[in-house]
Amino acid sequence: MSCFTKKRQRSEKKPECLRCGRCCILSDGRPCDYMIMYLTAPRSYCMIYPRRIGAILRTGQICAKRSELKKNFEECPYNE
Ligand code: SF4
Ligand code: SF4
Repeated sequence: MSCFTKKRQRSEKKPECLRCGRCCILSDGRPCDYMIMYLTAPRSYCMIYPRRIGAILRTGQICAKRSELKKNFEECPYNE
């Protein structure tokens, strides 16, 4: 297998959420009301996960796909 192929396979690997909860902290600095935090990994759980997309979280804030949040969070596999 060529290095090129290996590199391409790596970049096409689907990101897997580590459930650290960092992207569920809203713009006012408070965690989303739908997030449950644990003391150990995986750290977070979304109470409305199957129907979260488009859910109103706070004034002017809705839940969106991680790929649409153009923000890098520490150690997040979705970072660009
Ligand atoms: S920041 Fe990344 S790893 Fe953490 S919960 Fe969000 S998507 Fe998952
Ligand atoms: S609704 Fe969205 S922001 Fe809130 S906990 Fe679920 S995934 Fe995170």
